[in-house]
Amino acid sequence: MAATGNGSLLSALREVVGPEAVLYDPDELAVYEYDGALDRARPDFVVFPQTAEQVAGVVRVCNRYGVPFVARGAGTGLSGGAIPVRGGVLVVLTRMNRIQQVDYPNRVAVVEPGVINVTVTEEVAPDGYYYAPDPSSQKACTIGGNVAENSGGPHCLAYGVTTNHVLALDIVLPDGNMLHVGGPAPDRPGYDLTGLLTGSEGTLAIFTRAWLRLMRQPEAVRTFLAIFDRLDDASETVSDVIAHGIVPAALEMMDKLTIEAVEPAVKAGYPPEAEAVLLIEVEGLRESVDVQSELVRQVCQFHRAREIREAETLEARERLWAGRKGALGALGRLAPNYCLQDGVVPRTKLPWILRRVAEHGRKYGFRIANVFHAGDGNLHPCILFDEREPGATERVLECAAAILKDCVDAGGTITGEHGVGVEKQNWMPWLFSEADLDAMARLKRCFNPKELLNPGKVFPTTKSCVELSGDVVERAEKLGIPLV
Ligand SMILES: Cc1cc2nc3c(=O)[nH]c(=O)nc-3n(C[C@H](O)[C@H](O)[C@H](O)COP(=O)(O)OP(=O)(O)OC[C@H]3O[C@@H](n4cnc5c(N)ncnc54)[C@H](O)[C@@H]3O)c2cc1C
Repeated sequence: MAATGNGSLLSALREVVGPEAVLYDPDELAVYEYDGALDRARPDFVVFPQTAEQVAGVVRVCNRYGVPFVARGAGTGLSGGAIPVRGGVLVVLTRMNRIQQVDYPNRVAVVEPGVINVTVTEEVAPDGYYYAPDPSSQKACTIGGNVAENSGGPHCLAYGVTTNHVLALDIVLPDGNMLHVGGPAPDRPGYDLTGLLTGSEGTLAIFTRAWLRLMRQPEAVRTFLAIFDRLDDASETVSDVIAHGIVPAALEMMDKLTIEAVEPAVKAGYPPEAEAVLLIEVEGLRESVDVQSELVRQVCQFHRAREIREAETLEARERLWAGRKGALGALGRLAPNYCLQDGVVPRTKLPWILRRVAEHGRKYGFRIANVFHAGDGNLHPCILFDEREPGATERVLECAAAILKDCVDAGGTITGEHGVGVEKQNWMPWLFSEADLDAMARLKRCFNPKELLNPGKVFPTTKSCVELSGDVVERAEKLGIPLV
């Protein structure tokens, strides 16, 4: 961090948020040097604002001292988005965790950024409503992080990801100015800044309040577990279900290795000898759900499903979902570390990409578990490893790069929902030309001209784009990834 006199920076931060809301002891800072991904970097200060005015005050102090600052929610991100790669001030929004208003006639909830995703649904469920985007991390991750990453989840197949559910935002710009963007009326004139900011990975503004769309609970829900002896049969079922005109509320896949981890941990009732299971949920009006359920059964049977179980009670349904939502945590039983990737392929390429994932696993010497949003073609290969083994982390990153390159070659992309962050910034040129990246970088500079907000993220180094941090350059060189 710039040697501007940490003492006076500390006093200025304390003046804004109060002395009890600033951390600077190295032991306390250590907790904030990582998120759910592999990169690490320690902030110089952590602050916990409680109001939008305090966020703006912290941002102004950072501008005055010329130090970088990064917003952080729960730190569950899987691409290093909340990692302060250039040090500076980490602005943790978890104390701004109030649901301020629930407006059923307009189907809107107004929430602070530190509200935990699942609490929105918990708040409105007794009245028959819910908030649709449901990342598997929903018991921990915050709405601010969800908006920044444009997060998805099992139930985003039918209803769209976060951007389809955010109506408006209060924001603090990187110079400390406060703004309101968006609104409840559809088709507002002017640029769609809410859309632009959703998915901006904490690089354009800090969100201090969000207006979220609420949905009415469906009249009927039916949940199936389809059990397969061959991975190919399961993945071919996925595109065929949708080809039959059914868009299930959720269509998730787990392979044998995932089941091996989940069953002892969660006891979800997944058969341990199966090669793959599909968790399929259809919902809507009772009559249409019955018709869709019958079609789903027929398609699964056509693709040789060994068994199709239906959850007959709410408890049985919750048990099936507990397995899916607890799967990543359960993988900790199989290895000390995992690197969770997030590629996308056209649905019809799922059988091919899963075979390629297995080939890459064999080549690099890792077991890879697959648990993912199959209906969206959004795969999550979890590469199991032990970071204490010399060279393992480097090989994992090579393996991850090879899988994501295959996704791109198949007409897909390098992230479906976890963002680019630091982890994938050097793979952006696989998707975008220098001119594309330059246009995005120029847009970023309009919001964030001094690059103080969340520097060193999303963009690879180019003559016209943002600089890369040293460790990223070093890693890219090791992997032989060309930097444009
Ligand atoms: C077990 C597990 C399962 C997961 N499952 C899913 C899944 O199904 N779908 C999915 O999409 N993701 C999933 N994730 C990834 C992660 O939970 C999401 O990306 C989530 O939205 C991150 O929220 P967070 O509060 O933890 O954000 P953080 O990790 O703290 O931050 C993420 C990014 O958001 C920015 N940010 C945070 N708050 C703000 C704010 N108020 N204003 C501006 N920028 C901000 C940060 O700067 C950073 O760039 C999973 C993660 C784990 C560990």
